[in-house]
Amino acid sequence: MSKKRVLVTGGAGYIGSHTTVELINAGYEVIVVDNFSNSDASSLEGVKKITGVAPTFVEVDCCDKEAMRRVFEDNSFDAVIHFAAYKAVGESVAQPAKYYRNNLLSFINVVELMKEYHCKNIVFSSSATVYGDAEELPVTERTPRKPATSPYGNTKQMSEDMLRDIVTVDDELRGIALRYFNPIGAHPSALIGELPRGVPNNLVPYITQTAAGIRECLSIFGDDYPTPDGSCLRDYIDIVDLARAHVVAINRMVEGRCEERYEIFNVGTGTPVSVFELVKGFEKANNLKLNYKVAARRPGDVTAVWADTTRANEVLGWRAERKLEDTLRAAWQWECYVRNREK
Ligand code: UDP
Repeated sequence: MSKKRVLVTGGAGYIGSHTTVELINAGYEVIVVDNFSNSDASSLEGVKKITGVAPTFVEVDCCDKEAMRRVFEDNSFDAVIHFAAYKAVGESVAQPAKYYRNNLLSFINVVELMKEYHCKNIVFSSSATVYGDAEELPVTERTPRKPATSPYGNTKQMSEDMLRDIVTVDDELRGIALRYFNPIGAHPSALIGELPRGVPNNLVPYITQTAAGIRECLSIFGDDYPTPDGSCLRDYIDIVDLARAHVVAINRMVEGRCEERYEIFNVGTGTPVSVFELVKGFEKANNLKLNYKVAARRPGDVTAVWADTTRANEVLGWRAERKLEDTLRAAWQWECYVRNREK
């Protein structure tokens, strides 16, 4: 039997590269498109080292519809996973039009080409950011979304809405939105991981760069939140666990097991972890001391958000498996690998 084929947009990126590995390991043929706007070819080399398979790669911007049309013309796909998007919240506030143009246009191009070329299944890369400052915790997929607080968050909400509307009137098309909580860590091989450009915004890359001596000191944004230790609570999901969630979603689609045309799943661990706990966990897992200080709250941060993962557990048969300690060890090993590579 020939292999099922999956188009992965943004497949050279952090989540895309880990998902490509898991798809290949699960027996899929993967075609990656990426414009390297926030990634480079080293991640695809890493994928090849891990799996022994070099995924087909086309360097293309999903906003370039004619270039994307050639990809659909040259290949047929059983499913698409659409990762390609800008993701820096602060930058999206400073340059909203750039975010709306890139994230929405690429999404529209992909779904229109899917329709034209009769590709039936799409997994969309959404985010827990759609829940905003949630009134009930943990959040379920039915927890009402809050108005987005950044253009980035708005592009995720708008893309979810577009996907729902498009599949509702198209009997051929199925859509799954995966709402990621806080993806962290790296592949246990340390051959792929997160490659932030410039000063990291996210907690774990800032921690690993501080431990590596690239940043002087980690600022913990706020210790006066109404939480047990005063720092914010998040749901940190291991990147390999997150990648596996995409594989089970794709399996469900290509095997025709979707119960509804549009389905949403939270992808998290279900366990809240504070910033202090994460920092201490990192120190313990890697047997080192981190230079950190308490600083003012970061504007826009919510106090707490974590997932109710019942739906993903029961319907997808997926749950987070990797221990936080192992995830934090992998994050550090990846940082060390990158530093050695750059020497
Ligand atoms: N955080 C921090 N110092 C940093 C970066 C992040 O204390 O340098 C905190 C942030 O306030 C939040 C948590 O770490 O409580 C996760 O932040 P991140 O930016 O990684 O993800 P977010 O939850 O904002 O999407």
